[in-house]
Amino acid sequence: MQLHYIANASQASSSGRTIPVIDPSDGQVFDELQRGTADDIDQAVRAARQCYGAVWSKLSGAERGRLLMRLSAKVAEHADELAALEQRDCGKPTKQAKADALALVRYFEFYAGACDKLHGDTIPYLDGYSVLTWREPHGVTGHIIPWNYPMQIFGRSVGGALAAGNVCVVKPAEDACLSLIRVAQLAAEVGFPAGAINIVTGYGHEVGDALARHAGIDHISFTGSPKVGTLIQQVAAERHCPVTLELGGKSPQIVFADADLDAAIPMLTNAIVQNAGQTCSAGSRLLVDQAIYEPLLERLGQAFTALRVGPAAMDLDVGPLIRASQQQRVWDFLSDAQVANIPMVAQGQVVDEAPETGFYQAPTLLRDVPVMHRLAQEEVFGPVLCAMSFQDEDHAVELANATQFGLVAGVWTRDGGRQLRMAKRVRSGQVFINNYGAGGGVELPFGGVKSSGYGREKGFEALYGFTTLKTVAIKHG
Ligand code: NAD
Repeated sequence: MQLHYIANASQASSSGRTIPVIDPSDGQVFDELQRGTADDIDQAVRAARQCYGAVWSKLSGAERGRLLMRLSAKVAEHADELAALEQRDCGKPTKQAKADALALVRYFEFYAGACDKLHGDTIPYLDGYSVLTWREPHGVTGHIIPWNYPMQIFGRSVGGALAAGNVCVVKPAEDACLSLIRVAQLAAEVGFPAGAINIVTGYGHEVGDALARHAGIDHISFTGSPKVGTLIQQVAAERHCPVTLELGGKSPQIVFADADLDAAIPMLTNAIVQNAGQTCSAGSRLLVDQAIYEPLLERLGQAFTALRVGPAAMDLDVGPLIRASQQQRVWDFLSDAQVANIPMVAQGQVVDEAPETGFYQAPTLLRDVPVMHRLAQEEVFGPVLCAMSFQDEDHAVELANATQFGLVAGVWTRDGGRQLRMAKRVRSGQVFINNYGAGGGVELPFGGVKSSGYGREKGFEALYGFTTLKTVAIKHG
């Protein structure tokens, strides 16, 4: 039985109710979570505020940094245990689960080093004045986390918030809590004061909503779907609470005729099958120069056919999807493709050992997807790659920008001028040239434009979002 973790203590929910925890590899219940309430959120916020006033706001940046560095080392020591928890909870193949645990180590390490390097400025002003700016923490920050990369998103969001001097109340996704509860326990073990990191589990419309509405939350960091992102903005607007929104994507991979296809093909494949395609920055649209459309699809088709899907513990190329409803969502998209006569180039294979009750989906490569079809416009959030061809650079830009999203783009070309032109013309928060970093790069600011959200997490840039700037003007004559 999993409990909330509030003020460095495990605690049952005031609801007395629980949520079953299901293993996506076999669809079986193996644990229970607390079904939190608004009361539980209130307790967590009070604990956080108490910690902020009495302890956390009095620590120097260097002291916060030492705590985060100790937590990074502790997570490294427990990386296998955390990876095993997240593997069972989310159906991640072993390599992916381990990579996520190590990314968490790295986030805490990065933000540990940043704590004492965040500072304000001095500004030249009128004669007889000195003007300075201070970067002040918001206070108590709320973090609403999705199920696809719990450890990574916790690391970037909570790591950055703590480094900037905030204390945190965290609402993990109801499908993915186990690793985060354990990380909060490890934080207590290395000396984080009670109330610095609080975890309250439960459903989004109950505890997530209560967290977003709570008057004691000074900033909300939300990572999740555009639909819920809209609700969070509406709720936060009622009390003018600042929010950072990391929402979805429909990221293009744009391949020109002069690209190094040997380098590109494994990355194009991985960018859509990593985490079974359940990645906000998945490279889910493949835009290909018409001159190489057929040969590239042929080679990519071979790569897709070779992919094997199975239980997380088998550590194959692809694990299960998170839950039955997500599997149904992907099936619905694929049956729409059939209705629209969108040709399928290739599919990977689900292995015989995969239990019938697990949530598996073979990676699927589709071609000639019409640009306005929902497969080319909406997030499938599964291992489905939609290919289409373009005639020239202008056409590539037009297709790349033809969705409501703007999170990440990949550009594959050896032409230096084109690399920079494309980077400028594609509307997205990140552009990768001749590489692709779905989920990677702790140091690299990350976030979207358009319906992919606003504000930035990751890198040093995130610290600006987790602080507010105060200007102090002194007239001294
Ligand atoms: P979701 O929006 O359904 O849920 C995200 C979180 O919000 C969960 O913790 C959920 O419990 C909570 N929530 C749900 N309803 C709520 C409400 N009414 N009030 C407050 N909280 C609520 O998204 P999901 O299905 O968990 O995740 C998939 C989505 O997240 C995809 O759209 C994906 O692209 C996006 N995502 C974005 C990033 C990014 O960094 N841009 C990263 C990962 C996932």
